[in-house]
Amino acid sequence: MSHHPADLFAALLGAPSLPGARCRGKPHLFDEAAADESDDVVTQRHSQALGLCRLCPALASCETWFDGLPKAKRPPGVVAGRLNPQKAGRPRKTA
Ligand code: SF4
Repeated sequence: MSHHPADLFAALLGAPSLPGARCRGKPHLFDEAAADESDDVVTQRHSQALGLCRLCPALASCETWFDGLPKAKRPPGVVAGRLNPQKAGRPRKTA
């Protein structure tokens, strides 16, 4: 499940509407690493996501929303132009 601010799930958690969000419909780029995903693939897609954030017209609003969240509630993966840490206890494959 995506925790991305422009997705429905996040909207239910109080994320702003973020008009023009470049992440909308692209959780496959922004989400945290999956357990069976290689580091190279994760690095490549997160790099693309960070590039979309840099061009996003909603970046300032997104940063304000993200910075207002308690650290424990901040979604992992790429959000607001930052790569946020994986949730503790989430297993990753070591290749
Ligand atoms: S700054 Fe990034 S995470 Fe935030 S709305 Fe824009 S694309 Fe999505």
